[in-house]
Amino acid sequence: MEKKDLDWGNLDFGYRKTDYRFVSNYSDGKWDDGELTTDDKVVISECAGVLQYSQSCFEGMKAYTTEDGRIVTFRPDLNGARMEDSCRRLVMPVYPKEKFVEAVLKTIKANEAWVPPYGSGATLYIRPYMFGSTPVIGVKPADGYQFRILTTPVGPYFKGGMKGINIRVSEFDRAAPHGTGHIKAGLNYAMSLYPIVKAHEDGFNENMYLDSATRTYVEETGGANFIFVTKDGTIVTPKSNTILPSVTRRSLIYVAEHYLGLKTEERAVRFDEVKDFAEAGVCGTAAVVSPVASVTGLDGTKYEFPYGKEEMGPTIKKLYDTLTGIQMGRIDAPEGWIYEIK
Ligand SMILES: *Cc1c(COP(=O)(O)O)cnc(C)c1O
Repeated sequence: MEKKDLDWGNLDFGYRKTDYRFVSNYSDGKWDDGELTTDDKVVISECAGVLQYSQSCFEGMKAYTTEDGRIVTFRPDLNGARMEDSCRRLVMPVYPKEKFVEAVLKTIKANEAWVPPYGSGATLYIRPYMFGSTPVIGVKPADGYQFRILTTPVGPYFKGGMKGINIRVSEFDRAAPHGTGHIKAGLNYAMSLYPIVKAHEDGFNENMYLDSATRTYVEETGGANFIFVTKDGTIVTPKSNTILPSVTRRSLIYVAEHYLGLKTEERAVRFDEVKDFAEAGVCGTAAVVSPVASVTGLDGTKYEFPYGKEEMGPTIKKLYDTLTGIQMGRIDAPEGWIYEIK
């Protein structure tokens, strides 16, 4: 297999069409077998459920080349399980997680030539997604659905590498209590576009959303969970049932406990505690962990973390190095975390 001729070290986080995508259709109450296709166009009714009432959800993961040249992906079973949860909440048919994993591996295999080489800093981003594809005009779930997996080679999510990002508390809410904050619904992102565009205009990289009921507790950014480190080295992550359960965050907590022997706490985190933390980061598949340099509150007060301005704090760096070491095959992985594409 010959790799594509791309400038791997200088890719941005953007879409580049690759050779194959996976497509499966749901009709008459069942999924077809699904297949790989070279056709990147989706043809659906003008009245499709996704177009009228935003019935869609998605996942995000990565494939990459390990130090010893294997192509692998990270914990796709958790993405499959999470997509099942998203589907149930949106009254969409579940695409069974075992079949999900199989389809992901098959799609990576077909696009092997697009998986960036080890050490380039780039990865093959994998985007499984599902949407209501048949006409709906009265408000109800669609009858037909399409599940697809596209792949695209990407560079780092945040340019500027390990430099900390500047975040502000958003005056908008991300997720309502008992709403859809805990699932990966496309609609959660549609309504976060206005706040993120505003934040960028005002010179911030990301928004910090507080719990919308009381505006007291830290939730997450538009697309990444928070991770904090106390002055005595304990890892703290916000607990809330309106946060999306990040695979990266759950993996970092495991790494903190089992590889680094750190104490971890998953608990409600008041916004007024943020200024007392020694280190802060945001975590998700796209960036793994990015250090946070500052958080600006609703009243305009800016809290700067002791670490994060020029580089990662020591504890977040250890977490980052260990998790990426596991992903890249430099450190032994826990059983079942790494799926090799053969
Ligand atoms: C996808 C997502 C994350 C990150 O989850 P990972 O599984 O780590 O990629 C965090 N927050 C939101 C809102 C998300 O949609």
